[in-house]
Amino acid sequence: MRLTLIAVTIVLLLLGCQQQKKTNEKPHVVATTGMLYDAVINIAGDKMTAEAIMGPGVDPHLYKATQGDLSKFNKADLIVYNGILLEGKMSDILKKLGRQKPVVAAAESVPREMLKSAIGYQDAYDPHIWFDVRRWRYAVKAISHALIKLDSANQEFYEANTKTYVQRLDSLDSYVRKRISEIPENQRILVTAHDAFVYFGDAYGIRVEALQGISTVADFGLKDIADIIDLIIENDIKAIFVETSVSEKSINAVVTGCKEKGHIVKIGGYLYSDAMGEFGTEEGTYIGMFKSNIETIVNALK
Ligand code: ZN
Repeated sequence: MRLTLIAVTIVLLLLGCQQQKKTNEKPHVVATTGMLYDAVINIAGDKMTAEAIMGPGVDPHLYKATQGDLSKFNKADLIVYNGILLEGKMSDILKKLGRQKPVVAAAESVPREMLKSAIGYQDAYDPHIWFDVRRWRYAVKAISHALIKLDSANQEFYEANTKTYVQRLDSLDSYVRKRISEIPENQRILVTAHDAFVYFGDAYGIRVEALQGISTVADFGLKDIADIIDLIIENDIKAIFVETSVSEKSINAVVTGCKEKGHIVKIGGYLYSDAMGEFGTEEGTYIGMFKSNIETIVNALK
């Protein structure tokens, strides 16, 4: 019975593959993160097909490519990844693939002088550029160039879509500035589990403190927790935040630690940091995810 099921599944899978090859003549793009995927589909429209490797709640620092991902990479006409070592466990695979087909590290197009160094890592930069819309625009433009190179016959179409998307990003940037200004200046402190918001803080004038470094690979120490608890009490911070792709353990320890010292700090809500919401929902888009974060941050801190 079990064997029959497996056999049927294999036949169905094979049929599926064959069908895909026959009908799918559009260039196919594989992106690692949801944020990159969102830029790809906004620019490519119906002229290409695309898929993302990492879905909601997935931590890119720790993610290892599965067999399924490898076959997706192999079938892709173009691979888009963030780079700057965000996908730390996939760098070797992506480098190897780069010798066989177009592979673009979109975030590496941000000018060096706009990158922040990664504290605790020698000669490395912070990869979380998507939380400053202006830095992210460079990645979007790099994706646009790569799509045009792949399918130059539709250049005008991609250029028009890029223009519209960048305009939407510019409105998002103004919106974020306006919303942040609702938080009293002395309350503009964002405490999170890991350091994904350095560019966000730099761009929008909010101090950022995190328990873990820029990669979730390193563990946080007890000293970090004590420092953050002092900071929260000193500044009378009302809320701190958890992230959808990082364990809540460290943040809960801070809440408990504050309580023991007589200061009540609440969890302000979930922030999307390194992964977006479910595809097909508002939070499953780059702009929707960003707005959701802003809503959560402003409501908890103002
Ligand atoms: Zn991260």
